[in-house]
Amino acid sequence: MKTKTIEDFNVKDKRVLVRVDFNVPQDDNGNITDDNRIMEALPTIKYLISKDAKVILCSHLGRPIGFDKKFSLLPVQKRLSQILKTDIAFADDVAGPDSVQKANELKSGEILLLENLRFMHEEEENNTEFSKKLASLADIYINDAFGSAHRKHSSTYGVAEFLPSGAGFLMAKEIEMLSTAITNPKRPFIAILGGAKVSEKIGVIKNLLENVNTLIIGGAMAYTFLKAQGVNVGNSLVDDNNIKFAISMIAKAQENNVNLLLPIDHIVAKELNKDSKSIVTIGAEIPQNLMGMDIGPKTVKLYKQAIKNGKTIIWNGPLGVFEIKQYCEGTKAILKAVVASGANSIIGGGDTASAVINLGYKNKVTHISTGGGASLKLLEGARLPGIEKLQNK
Ligand code: AMP
Repeated sequence: MKTKTIEDFNVKDKRVLVRVDFNVPQDDNGNITDDNRIMEALPTIKYLISKDAKVILCSHLGRPIGFDKKFSLLPVQKRLSQILKTDIAFADDVAGPDSVQKANELKSGEILLLENLRFMHEEEENNTEFSKKLASLADIYINDAFGSAHRKHSSTYGVAEFLPSGAGFLMAKEIEMLSTAITNPKRPFIAILGGAKVSEKIGVIKNLLENVNTLIIGGAMAYTFLKAQGVNVGNSLVDDNNIKFAISMIAKAQENNVNLLLPIDHIVAKELNKDSKSIVTIGAEIPQNLMGMDIGPKTVKLYKQAIKNGKTIIWNGPLGVFEIKQYCEGTKAILKAVVASGANSIIGGGDTASAVINLGYKNKVTHISTGGGASLKLLEGARLPGIEKLQNK
């Protein structure tokens, strides 16, 4: 069964409530420092305008407690208005009297942006009355906020109860890219997992081990797996609460015939900072007073060999402390190999997406997900609240 999308509705002259992700980064003066999230929402907004819909946009921004001007969506209204070269109405409440009045006055082809959803505590509580109020502003509900699809909030979940609902273009693309890779991958299917926290990726590791041909592990996560195998990892970051889990996953990989690859050498240093002198270890062991920072050259070679033949590659989590220049080489080399393989390459959101963009590979991979937490949930095989409530075709 497929989720309905924006194109399945006749939106002409209809009020369409669109949940977008305008949670943009800002500097101390409230200037938007990266408008990528606004740009990602444009295909859906432009489509609705071209079809003469009355567009009502809503989003959260940051983590305000109650009404707090610092978290207002006004800067977004200004930026969006500049980008689209059109006036955009702004409601200074969320589903309150100003929103109701401005939604009613909206003409076909016009846009209204509501104030920050999280000014209302009811939003995150998925309060039914608040969901009804939001729904009463519109005739159709479109969810285009993939980055919030793992959240069960009024604007991502509750509101869909009360309106015909479907996915916007960004949401539809994310579902298509991530779900297809997981449910119907071209093989060899390779997953690359890195980052710091094993605990956040337990579900992902379990689910991927049922599906992939090769699982490559790097980043700090690798030290927990190496320690589970009895390898000395020195002062490296280890998640001691998950050693048992790592042992069971190593056994699971064997049982399922998954080629599980762990680092065979490392770039190590005394302290986690840019000034600490780094050296390369000879093998997988890390001396007592040193910490693993990145995968070593032998590991890069081993991983590249496996990646070369990949047809589907999913990647979540950097393979080293990529924020420090001298420790981003492993991530960079593996990224190059992923691109060179020609595989369908899907990059999870969050840090991995930043690494890929910072290293200049944005347009070289098949898809970079806009949702960190949401993409991890999909890789776990979980159903996302923001998707499951949408109508099916
Ligand atoms: P996560 O949020 O779990 O994906 O973790 C991302 C973070 O993992 C990044 O900030 C990286 O700097 C960090 N990371 C990757 N490799 C290492 C490592 N060897 N030691 C410490 N932190 C690491």
